[in-house]
This record gives sequence, structure tokens and C-alpha cells, in this order.
Amino acid sequence: MTNKAIRALAGGGIVTAAAIILVIVSFTSKADTCYMCSKPLASHGATLYHLEFTGGKEVTVCCAHCGVGCQMRMRNMEGDELESVRTLDYLTEKSINGAAAYYLVGSEEIPCCVPTVICFEEQSSAERFQREQGGKVYSLEEILRLPMEKLMKAG
Ligand SMILES: [Zn+2]
Ligand SMILES: [Zn+2]
Repeated sequence: MTNKAIRALAGGGIVTAAAIILVIVSFTSKADTCYMCSKPLASHGATLYHLEFTGGKEVTVCCAHCGVGCQMRMRNMEGDELESVRTLDYLTEKSINGAAAYYLVGSEEIPCCVPTVICFEEQSSAERFQREQGGKVYSLEEILRLPMEKLMKAG
């Protein structure tokens, strides 16, 4: 291979890398991937988790695992307060208030990120699901008190 060809190849490689980075930046700036783990949101319709902050900032994440992680991360940062949390009941797919939901952590059913965090509107359905799939049920307040490392070990 000639030096000219190598230089051309190297140049082409740089251009390609720049183009890929551009594509990634423009892709993630749109809200079609998870704010925390960058999973495409379209494939996680049943577990989507939406956070709204007092400053008007809105964040959509793939599931409650990333939703809780996002709240833990925000809590440690200056700025906007969390105003509301919407998510879906895992069984009925009904839109529910995430602040009042029951969170089943570490069940064997794995709809999205691991360790799994699955939301239910009713405590009774969370506990019924827990009996079949394992894990532990928490309120949002309780889950936010868990050590972050324990919850977020895997993505
Ligand atoms: Zn995510
Ligand atoms: Zn997820």
C-alpha cells in the first residue's frame, strides 16, 4: 500500500469517526433514548418513566431503574427540584404517579435494566408479583434511601 493510500485511509477514518460522533450527539439530544443509559425509548413502552423538574426540565428514561438513578443523581446536584414523576403500572400499563407507586426491586422478571425496578400502582399487585418473581417492594421514599451503588451496579 502506498503512503498516499494510507494517508487517504487515515483521513477517511477521522472523517468517519467525526460523522459517527455527530450522529450520536444529534441522536441523544432528541428525547428518543434514555437520559441515563441511552437505551432507545421506543422499545420500552411498558416501563417508561418520566420526570419533571421545577425549572421546566423534563427527562424520560427507559424504566424505574434509570428513573430512580436519575433522582439519586439529581439529588446530589444543585438546581432544579423534582416536581412530578409519571410512570406506568407494569400490569395494567396505566399512567400512574411515580411518587406514590410501589417499586419491586430485583425480581426475576427483567423488562429492562438490571437490577430490575418495576412499578405498580397497588401495593397488593406489587406483592402478588413479588411472590411469583421474587425481589423486594419499596416506596419511592424508601428506594431513594438505598445505597446508590447497590441499586445501580448494573445498567
Ligand atoms: Zn435507562
Ligand atoms: Zn431501563
